[in-house]
Amino acid sequence: MNTPQRIIRVAIKTPLNNLFDYLPPASVSGAINPGVRVLVPFGRAQTVGIVVETADSSAIPTDRLRRIVDVLDTSPVLDKDLMTLLAWAAGYYQQTPGEVYAAALPRLLRDGRQIDALQDVWSSTPSGRDIEIEKLRRRAPRQASALSLLLAHPDGADVDLIERAMGDGWRPIVRTLVDKEWAVCEQRRSVPETILGSNIDSAEETPQLTDDQENAVVAVDQSGHQFAAFLLHGVTGSGKTEVYLQLIEKTLQKQQQALVLAPEIGLTPQLVDRFRRRLDVPLAVLHSGLTDSERLNAWRTARCGSARVVVGTRSAVFAPLESPGIVIVDEEHDTSYKQQEGFRYSARDLAVMRARQQGIPVVLGSATPSLESLHNVNQGRYTQLDLRTRAGGASMPSMRLLDMRREPIDGGLSGSLIGAMRQHLQQSGQVLLFLNRRGFAPVWFCPDCTWAAACARCDARMTLHQSAHQLRCHHCGATRSPEPTCPECDGAPQPVGMGTQRIEETIDRLFPDHALARIDRDSTRRRGSMEHMLEEIRHGDRRILIGTQMLTKGHHFPAVTLVGVIDADQGLFGTDPRSSERLAQLLVQVAGRAGRAKHPGEVLIQTQCPEHPLLNTLIHHGYRDFAKAALREREAAGWPPYTALALLRADSEKESLPPRFLNEARHLAGNIAGITILGPAAAPMPRRAGRFRAQLLIQGDRGPLQSFLSRWTPQLSGLNHARRVRWSLDVDPLELF
Ligand code: ADP
Ligand code: ZN
Ligand code: ZN
Repeated sequence: MNTPQRIIRVAIKTPLNNLFDYLPPASVSGAINPGVRVLVPFGRAQTVGIVVETADSSAIPTDRLRRIVDVLDTSPVLDKDLMTLLAWAAGYYQQTPGEVYAAALPRLLRDGRQIDALQDVWSSTPSGRDIEIEKLRRRAPRQASALSLLLAHPDGADVDLIERAMGDGWRPIVRTLVDKEWAVCEQRRSVPETILGSNIDSAEETPQLTDDQENAVVAVDQSGHQFAAFLLHGVTGSGKTEVYLQLIEKTLQKQQQALVLAPEIGLTPQLVDRFRRRLDVPLAVLHSGLTDSERLNAWRTARCGSARVVVGTRSAVFAPLESPGIVIVDEEHDTSYKQQEGFRYSARDLAVMRARQQGIPVVLGSATPSLESLHNVNQGRYTQLDLRTRAGGASMPSMRLLDMRREPIDGGLSGSLIGAMRQHLQQSGQVLLFLNRRGFAPVWFCPDCTWAAACARCDARMTLHQSAHQLRCHHCGATRSPEPTCPECDGAPQPVGMGTQRIEETIDRLFPDHALARIDRDSTRRRGSMEHMLEEIRHGDRRILIGTQMLTKGHHFPAVTLVGVIDADQGLFGTDPRSSERLAQLLVQVAGRAGRAKHPGEVLIQTQCPEHPLLNTLIHHGYRDFAKAALREREAAGWPPYTALALLRADSEKESLPPRFLNEARHLAGNIAGITILGPAAAPMPRRAGRFRAQLLIQGDRGPLQSFLSRWTPQLSGLNHARRVRWSLDVDPLELF
């Protein structure tokens, strides 16, 4: 009797929504476990895949199945818990298994690199350490720089480190050092550089916790070794980070690891420094700025448990942990937790799911919790913990609306704001101005005929960048020179509206004696320029700060006493049901930058509509009341979090194709009780980078929506137009219109 061949089912990174069946390799007799990487034939090439499950039979006849070429790991690279999480995520978000499993692995592992591969590491020899660097520098400056780099890294320098310091062309120089026996190259398993030691020498005093902080720490700690979700709602500066630190310390005492997620923009060196000053354990950092081998190293130290604390952005929710004890999500409302392309997922929601599956507590912290999380509190799924006052005795800033219809205005600034700036500067405060629009002016406009410069490839206006004398499209990156005369009527176009560069110009004119720092994506493009400016701000060398969101998240400026919001109206009239939530969060977060230390802060908000109910609830009653009102509105309108949504997007260079595909998808769905399908409709920006975009919105209660999606989505790729458009499904989308 023939025993059935085991079938190995493998996830492979392709757009196809299925696993691929293989036979075990001829030479291997033992079990091939889920989570192990295998090299398999795929089409005419070979590729690396992840074993997801084994089965006794396949839909494909055995004689047509191919064999696995090689098994790359002796033990799973993704452990059982992560495999469970990823399988759940693939189902919930309706994403292809290949994409999902790939997201959890550092690129080098996806490419088949051995998990503990050896790496070249260079270090100086005793004779290298005897060289007089300055003398050498006169003869051979590049050799001298290379040698002093090695001297500065006594534990060894790897390829990434040297390349970053010296640029391309470093190899022959380092080889010369080796030839002269000033340096040696060794092969090591891991590079010490990627795991950060603690920096307890410059230790920070552990403050006496406030009652609120104490209650929060106790509540989470008492949940013990089981799942519980907490929403830590603490006003800005209330000491949330302090609560995290003490919870992490308790976790470390239990010999467990802590996983901390921070928004992309909030994971600043400041936060990591603070962790290192307080926690006497090795720490791994995972963010998008790492090189592939740094990422692999950090990943490995998390997995083997040598990193006791893992801090990272979105994708760190998939970091492997040897002994997880707690998950913390800082600024849980932040939209950067949502992955917007490829495998679309919410790292915040997956963090909660991960904690649930592993039976550990999860803490979501924010001064401005998302309506989703507040709703989960109301439903009894999360426990809310409040920090009501600022730590260390600082008071909350006062907020005031400035009516721009009544104010004298000079270069975008109202008379009241200018007056307040003078006053705060005189009292040696710092001033922070917020405007979420970079460039000089958002519109290049002809007053004679109302022509405005538009991008040729997007339905969007071009932004004027004055210093570069360029129009730039902030959506596709296109650039051109500004038209000197109006192409419609020969009139003279002018810049209209305010960007950060234009405010900078106004300030230089009005406050010539005060140095200013502008922080936005343009001014911080060069590596290190952001850190440099932040340093000058902290030292008080720059007293006026102007910036976009970049400036307002995660940074702590104790000397700022006045915050000016240049244009609150940007967010007031959004068509997306979430735009008011975003504006409220933004205003509270920006305001939170004021008066964090001893001096009371003041917040002035420029607006054309000071009677707007949202602004008024927020300013006179605070975020809590705003959130209550906003939740009532959402419930009445049937929007999330009271229903669930999915968005099917399609785009193409041909305008007619996306709606055709979406109509097919709609017909395929038919009529389903409890599910509403809206569209196809054009996307909010119907054309972007030369592609036409349309969408279908699917709405329903979570359960019915999930079961509908799991029947519908797998059939979409079979539709006639599926191959003629680019399409994607977004479950729980953050941006709707
Ligand atoms: P958040 O994370 O809520 O913005 P932080 O944890 O950064 O707040 O705390 C704000 C400031 O207050 C920090 O300088 C911190 O050192 C200080 N701080 C936090 N907790 C206390 C406390 N219990 N007593 C005194 N100062 C504190
Ligand atoms: Zn004109
Ligand atoms: Zn464009």
